[in-house]
Amino acid sequence: MRLTDSYGRVATDLRVSLTDRCNLRCAYCMPADGLDWLPGPLLLTDDEILRLVTIAVARLGVTEIRLTGGEPTLRPGLVRLVERMAALSPRPELSLTTNGLRLAGRAGLAGPLAAAGLDRVNISLDTLRPERFARITRRDRLADVLAGLAAAADAGLGPVKVNAVLLRGRNDDEAAPLLRWCLARGYQLRFIEQMPLDAQHGWRRAEMVTAGEILARLAAEFALTPLPGRGSAPAELFAVDGGSGTVGVIGSVSAPFCAACDRVRLTADGQVRNCLFAREESDLRGPLRAGATDDDLADRWVRAVWGKHAGHGIDAPGFHQPDRPMSAIGG
Ligand code: SAM
Ligand code: SF4
Repeated sequence: MRLTDSYGRVATDLRVSLTDRCNLRCAYCMPADGLDWLPGPLLLTDDEILRLVTIAVARLGVTEIRLTGGEPTLRPGLVRLVERMAALSPRPELSLTTNGLRLAGRAGLAGPLAAAGLDRVNISLDTLRPERFARITRRDRLADVLAGLAAAADAGLGPVKVNAVLLRGRNDDEAAPLLRWCLARGYQLRFIEQMPLDAQHGWRRAEMVTAGEILARLAAEFALTPLPGRGSAPAELFAVDGGSGTVGVIGSVSAPFCAACDRVRLTADGQVRNCLFAREESDLRGPLRAGATDDDLADRWVRAVWGKHAGHGIDAPGFHQPDRPMSAIGG
C-alpha cells in the first residue's frame, strides 16, 4: 500500500507535529499573548506516535520523517522518540524543524539527538539583529539560536538548513546579510514566503514579501545560478557566486509547488492533514484509542490521502485560512 492521491501524487514525506506549544511567539505564527493549547488528553502519547509512524514507514511507503511543531524540542521524550524512530525498518530519514533555542548549552539537545539517530535539522532565523529578533519573536533569545546553530553543526546534524521568513518593513533588508552570514558558516539558507497561517489571521497578501522580490534583492549582491533537479523539494535552489554555497527560495504562495507535493502531516492530536491549508482532517487518534488494528489504521490513512486536493487554493476566490494555526498544524 502507498499513500497515493487521486492526482497520482504519492506521499512519502511525513511531517509529525510533536506539540503545539512554543517558547517563542513569532509575529507571523502566533499572537503576542493568548492562544489555547491543545488539551493534554487529546495529544498522542509517545507510544501512539510510534505506532502511527511505524505503520507509515513499514506499510505505507513513508521514507522521510520530519519532526516539528510548535516547538518540537519542548516535548519531554524527544530524544527517546528519535531513537525509536531510527530503529524502524526500513530506517526513515529523520529531520527536525526547530527554533534552535534548546540545542546548545549544558543540557543542549544537539548531541543527544545526533546520537539518537537524527540526521538533519532546519533552524529558523529571520534576523541577525538582537533587537529585531526580540521584536519579531517577542523574546530576547537571538544568542541562543546562534549557539543552537553552531551546536547542530558541531553535532553533525548537517547540512544545517536555516529557514527565514521576511516581513515587510521589519527584516526584508536582511536577505543579503543573512545569506552572507550563512554562506560563511556552511549553512544552507532558505527563504519562505509568509503564508496565511498565523493564529491571529493578520496575513495580507499585499504586504507579503514575494519570492520574486527576495530573488531581486539577492541578485543585486550575488550571482545566482538556478540549480536543476528540484523534484518535490519546495525550494527553488540557486548556486551563489559560482561556488558550492546555495540559497533556496520557497514561493509557497506566489509559485506553489502543489503538483509535485509528496507530503502528508500528522498533528500532535492525531489528525492526518494533506496540506498546511487543508480544511479537512482525518482522525486517527479516535480509532487508535478504540482498538483499531494496524490494517484498519493504514486503510484510514490511505483513504485520507486519496482525498488530497490538487492545490492549496490561496489564490482562489473562496480561499479561507485554515482554523488551525501553523503552530498546531506542524510547519
Ligand atoms: N518552532 C519550529 C521553528 O520555528 O522552526 C518549528 C515549527 S515552525 C511552525 C516551522 C517553520 O514554519 C519555521 O521555519 C517558521 O519560520 C515557519 N512559519 C511559521 N509561520 C509561518 C508563516 N505564517 N508563513 C511562512 N512560514 C511560517
Ligand atoms: Fe514557535 Fe516556530 Fe511558530 Fe516561531 S514559527 S512561534 S518558533 S512554532
